[in-house]
Amino acid sequence: MTERRRFVKELVGMGAAVWAASMGGEGRAAAQAPASAPGASRGPAPSGKAASSTPPPGKKLGYALVGLGSLSQNQIAPALAAKTKHCKLTGLVSGHPEKAREWAKKYGVPETGIYDYQNFDQIKNNPDIDVVYVVLPNSMHAEFTIRAAQAGKHVLCEKPMAISVKECDAMISACRQAGRKLAIAYRLHFEPNNLELVRMAREKTLGSVKVIEAGAGFPIGDPKQWRLDKALAGGGSLMDIGIYALQAARYISGEEPVSVSAVSTTTDPVKFKPGVDESVLFTLKFPSGIIASCASSYATGLNRFRASAERGWFEVQPALNYVGIKGRKMDQGKLVDFDFPAIDHFAAEMDDFADCILNGKETRVPGEEGRRDLRIMTAIYEAAASGRTVSLAKG
Ligand code: NAD
Repeated sequence: MTERRRFVKELVGMGAAVWAASMGGEGRAAAQAPASAPGASRGPAPSGKAASSTPPPGKKLGYALVGLGSLSQNQIAPALAAKTKHCKLTGLVSGHPEKAREWAKKYGVPETGIYDYQNFDQIKNNPDIDVVYVVLPNSMHAEFTIRAAQAGKHVLCEKPMAISVKECDAMISACRQAGRKLAIAYRLHFEPNNLELVRMAREKTLGSVKVIEAGAGFPIGDPKQWRLDKALAGGGSLMDIGIYALQAARYISGEEPVSVSAVSTTTDPVKFKPGVDESVLFTLKFPSGIIASCASSYATGLNRFRASAERGWFEVQPALNYVGIKGRKMDQGKLVDFDFPAIDHFAAEMDDFADCILNGKETRVPGEEGRRDLRIMTAIYEAAASGRTVSLAKG
């Protein structure tokens, strides 16, 4: 096995510690923060409420999906049904009872595992549900994460973690108080080609990284969807897809940005109302001097992360598809393709979280990681609105 393959195998399998150690100062500190400290998942359940407790090793953890929309339907439920090793689907939370019943039949979930948004808190009495996976519009993440924690469940929450830093703080605090783990569903932290970028940057394979370019975007369709409603989405393309470019800049550099400048534009004011960005370009400056030029768009396809270093560059393109991510490097004039096996991102992230819960390990994607992105995205919006560079040095 080559060094590179061994590295990726470690990361994809159990690599929380490797990932955390590969992050820079603040990333490493946060990965060790109290909210996800060893044993947190074994902490006391909220008094008199929770029926669940940390299961013994070997048991498959039960996941409940909150929100049975397109991501749950096309990616998460199929992964739970056929691809995860340590997880199974045991709960369904939906505002549409008929849909939930159909899903229950299809996936073998008992009627007692079906909830709606009102009676959701009764999930505390269901010992077959260990983890609640929140797959709702962004503005609903905080409420359902907090209610799940208060019901004694561990929480995997979709990105973006929430729509404000204040909400992130409340979610982290609720999970900490309940002694439950919180992870944010950043699937690319488990994807081998993206992990190879991290390894090459950290090991300075082509010298020190100097410039990062990261773009994430797609042309958005239906103008009536919640993604274009500020109240539900918390913003526009940046919150939904540009967050991947921000993540890439952070995990490739392994540092936290000290300042940000940004420009946004709207070419379709009918579709993109105030507060819902169509396209944003942002520049991040990191403590070592690395700069990242990032683009986010709901108007066009963007799908590449590239790191340029002293002796060449390395990149993923496509960078963030569910399947078909490809990486390559330009090493002293020679183009070399990466060669990694395809994985199911959702199965990998759910299995990793189950492993963290079952074995008292840190997640590499804790709530603190989601909070960092919210803080930076808030600064990006501020920089775009004011035309000024916004400092991120403190806070
Ligand atoms: P979707 O619109 O397909 O599904 C949303 C679900 O929420 C639906 O079941 C809908 O009925 C329910 N819902 C409850 N209240 C609602 C309301 N007031 N308005 C609209 N829907 C409501 O969305 P999706 O694509 O499944 O996205 C859900 C979450 O997953 C979002 O946070 C999104 O950012 C995230 N996501 C992540 C990825 C990824 O690759 N990790 C990909 C897609 C979406």
